[in-house]
This record gives sequence, structure tokens and C-alpha cells, in this order.
Amino acid sequence: MADANGQIFEQLIVNQAAVVSHGCCACGNAYASNAPGDRALCASINPEQNLYLFCAACGDAIMAHVQADAVRGRYTWDWVVPLRGRPLPNVSA
Ligand SMILES: [Zn+2]
Repeated sequence: MADANGQIFEQLIVNQAAVVSHGCCACGNAYASNAPGDRALCASINPEQNLYLFCAACGDAIMAHVQADAVRGRYTWDWVVPLRGRPLPNVSA
């Protein structure tokens, strides 16, 4: 992408960045507290676009039952890592 002066900069594309303070939406279990983190399934449900996050075990069970491609498209696998420090003041948790 070029800035106002026409310079080209490398850009990082980030699918999603969010801070969550709850466990799995299905079983309530917390995610890993160690640095490598945990695999998690994210569901985006229109129209409110709320983020629903499920642990790997619940996510696998959910995806095993989702048959329609249109519905499968609402789910994406992601990774949850513990946040060190505090989120920025303008970031809702
Ligand atoms: Zn779970």
C-alpha cells in the first residue's frame, strides 16, 4: 500500500485480533495459560457479529455436526494465547 508520498510499505494482514476474558462458550473451560496457547473455534453469528469462542474439543464436536457449507463458513479455527500485561484502555475485554 502506498502512503501519501507514494512510498510502498509491507503490510501485515491480520484476520482477527480480540481480547476475551471468558472460557469456552460451550463447556466453560479456560484456555491454556502457557505461552503456546490453545487451538480454538471462532463462530461469527450475524447480524450482531458477536464472537463465540470454543475450545478445541468442543470445536471439533461442533464442526462434526455442521453439514451445510453456508453454516461452516461462519466458523474459523484460530489460536488463543494468554495476554501478557494489560490491554490498551480503548480495547474492550
Ligand atoms: Zn469447550
